[in-house]
Amino acid sequence: MTQITVRRLAGAARSGSDRSGSVYHAVVVGQDIALCGATYGTRSAGWSEYHGRAVTCRRCLKKLETREVA
Ligand SMILES: [Zn+2]
Repeated sequence: MTQITVRRLAGAARSGSDRSGSVYHAVVVGQDIALCGATYGTRSAGWSEYHGRAVTCRRCLKKLETREVA
């Protein structure tokens, strides 16, 4: 089974303002890419150390629902 963790991209969140900066993705353990394909760019700090409680990324949720993950 694929194990996933709930993470968000570090550095993506801008303090206070928007919700889009705090989207939690389902990230495959051992990989640095979310189910939706999101990953960090060269300018980003990578995935946050913080583990969220729930995935809020719609595309990740879709993947989880449809079990497209091996
Ligand atoms: Zn996602």
